[in-house]
Amino acid sequence: MSLALAETVAGARPSKTLAVSARAAELRAEGVDVINFGAGEPDFDTPENIKDAAVKAIWGGQTKYTAASGTMALRSAVQNKLRRENGLSYELNQLIINAGAKHTLFTLFQAILNSGDEALIPAPYWVSYPDMVTLLRGRPVIIPTTAENNFEITAADLQKYITPRTKALVLNSPANPTGSVYSRAKLQALADFLADKDLYIISDEIYERFLYDGARFCSIAQLSEKIRAKTIIVNGVSKAYAMTGWRVGYAAGPADVIKAMTVIQSQSLSNPTSIAQAAAVEALNGDQASVAKMLAAFQERRDLICGAFHKIDGVSCRCPQGAFYAFPDVSALYGKSFRGQKLRNSEELAAALLENAHVAVVPGSSFGADKHIRLSYACAPENIQRGLARFKEFVLALD
Ligand code: PMP
Ligand code: GLU
Repeated sequence: MSLALAETVAGARPSKTLAVSARAAELRAEGVDVINFGAGEPDFDTPENIKDAAVKAIWGGQTKYTAASGTMALRSAVQNKLRRENGLSYELNQLIINAGAKHTLFTLFQAILNSGDEALIPAPYWVSYPDMVTLLRGRPVIIPTTAENNFEITAADLQKYITPRTKALVLNSPANPTGSVYSRAKLQALADFLADKDLYIISDEIYERFLYDGARFCSIAQLSEKIRAKTIIVNGVSKAYAMTGWRVGYAAGPADVIKAMTVIQSQSLSNPTSIAQAAAVEALNGDQASVAKMLAAFQERRDLICGAFHKIDGVSCRCPQGAFYAFPDVSALYGKSFRGQKLRNSEELAAALLENAHVAVVPGSSFGADKHIRLSYACAPENIQRGLARFKEFVLALD
């Protein structure tokens, strides 16, 4: 008997960010002292007030199915957050809660993509965008950007890549993996161009709070009513509140899109975990002091990792204005050898680093940028110091 899997699965790859961390964990279980800069996951524990809210929810009987679009309490908390922090008003039927922002994005693509529809994805991109589109029989259309342009797209780029099949554009600012943050003026230029274009704008704002050097966050949805009407904001609690394992994300957008997402969710997930939703209510409504503390730590770590990279010859690292990733250009090292083994690309460099120096990084090829590697600096400063010392030694040993 030979049963074939779905054709879409053949074209999709497992998430590289998760795969690198899984390999690092495997080595660690074997007793190897691995320093893991793999998956972007804050090392902080979830703040206590949030954990307490979850415990209270368990004892208070919030252990049943919720509405498919999420509890009223959490949708209200999201509604208030968007009004308070972003100056954006949404009705409750324009909001949905999902099991993590990754799940929000997948559900959203399911709701809007027909087979063959094109989704514009600026590169470097977060690993999952193109594969999600492929899994749903859409066509990812990659828009290249350059470091000189701060890895940002312009209206001229959009003009070049938009076709009658274009259904959506994905924007991610602050960005994973580059750390770029669009200024209001640059977003305004995109918004002016997009105002009369028939496409959805997906604005992935999961790193909204991670800003450095005075960078200011702006959502494209804030720029005009016309733009807001076609924008779906995607966000979640994973990063800002150190809640990656709780799996809560959300979307805000046009009622018909949210309704379609709710139908899909009601037939697939039912609802995100009731207890995690109660915890997310406290995250959004509760004391924000622990968030500020974590953010201050991230700024220090960013300075530490960028400072260390500047002292390594053959590596050029811009200091990112947002998110929590360093994204150095290591292409000057390609063609060199480590113990007789030639390193030709980011995949080979990352593999050699992990197996020999026990430093886990994600190859840039996974983000559509083979000249680079990505390091998540959401880890302890001692690990950044030790990891970068190992990295430097590795580079010095190349010939
Ligand atoms: N968007 C981006 C850009 C990300 O880096 C991530 C990874 N955490 C997500 C969405 C998804 O986050 P989560 O599913 O944990 O909410
Ligand atoms: N988004 C994080 C990252 O880019 C977590 C892993 C994942 O969801 O892919 O590393």
